[in-house]
Amino acid sequence: MAEKIFLSSPHMSGKEQNYVNEAFSSNWIAPLGPNVNGFEKELASYTQTKHAAALSSGTAALHLALINLGVKQGDEVLVSSFTFSATVNPIVYQGAVPVFIDSEMDTWNMDPEILKKAVRDRIEKGKKPAAIIIVHLYGMPAKMDEIMQIAQKYDIPIIEDAAEALGGQYKNKALGSMGDMGILSFNGNKIITTSGGGALISNNEKYITNARFLATQARDEAPHYQHSHIGYNYRMSNIVAGIGRGQLEVIDKRVSQRRTINQWYRTFLSDFDGITFLTEPNDQFFSNFWLTTILVDQEKCNGTSREDIRLRLLDYNIETRPLWKPMHLQPVFAKYPAYMNGTCERLFDVGLCLPSGSNLTQDQKDRIYRHLIEILKS
Ligand SMILES: *Cc1c(COP(=O)(O)O)cnc(C)c1O
Repeated sequence: MAEKIFLSSPHMSGKEQNYVNEAFSSNWIAPLGPNVNGFEKELASYTQTKHAAALSSGTAALHLALINLGVKQGDEVLVSSFTFSATVNPIVYQGAVPVFIDSEMDTWNMDPEILKKAVRDRIEKGKKPAAIIIVHLYGMPAKMDEIMQIAQKYDIPIIEDAAEALGGQYKNKALGSMGDMGILSFNGNKIITTSGGGALISNNEKYITNARFLATQARDEAPHYQHSHIGYNYRMSNIVAGIGRGQLEVIDKRVSQRRTINQWYRTFLSDFDGITFLTEPNDQFFSNFWLTTILVDQEKCNGTSREDIRLRLLDYNIETRPLWKPMHLQPVFAKYPAYMNGTCERLFDVGLCLPSGSNLTQDQKDRIYRHLIEILKS
């Protein structure tokens, strides 16, 4: 069998090793150290935010963001249904209630109209939402102006889940930098990776200082170990941060590589009416195209469905994946309120993520091209 082509695999720059070696030679193996401080500064600078805290994961960053906002037992948090479960889990860690909002078709992200309806309806029911978590899924910016306008009108804080979106921009502003806080992920398949890790970014220093405090077991200032808050072990280690610094050196290159792959798919699939792409609505939206995603219209594809394409590519050892299964359809979240109009369910039914790694070789691209054309022409 031909070698496996992954959806998105780690792509090192070669610079990571220097930072990691530096940590070893100076014996900075302890959790904190110069790489953590350096990575935080470089992240803040790259995302045009004032402050960043390097953490063990994007999920940890979301959890600390909710704690920063005082989200507690019984509070409600409005959140995109069309996302990965890690966006929602921390809401439940806090004993709070996720309220799911459907997507719109332009960006596949949170629909501002439905958000507005949901905010009004929750307030009418006597429950003003404690926060809104919006997601820039697959790297595509959500409609931030419309969403922030609603959030401001009703005075509800915004957390931007930019786990998939580092390098993306909305009106020239970095994704993650526009809300009260933003979160990033450096998990193995993201656009840059530290093998595992995340960050919280914000212009509000108080949030970042508090996140660092809570992430290191909430130690009060005292020579002995004293605690007046519940803490977490959520900090990024100095070794891991070294990998992050090497990766961040090439982030712009990775964005342009992923965008080139997206353009490549568009060009050779443009002959097929039944295939449509998630596309930037206008030049105010700049996606990192972390993954290239398509919708498959079975009728216009001579009866070939999304699943037909996925399974046949799998036969050739080419990994693809259906779009995220909406959270309101997940057994674990089915009991929570949801404001839906069928959009993200439809996307899930017919959508597919294609191999999008910045390290795809010409040989791998040839295989993808050949087999996709063959499947769509049959
Ligand atoms: C990956 C991801 C996360 C979680 O990040 P981890 O670092 O894996 O904890 C959160 N939200 C979205 C949309 C993601 O894709």
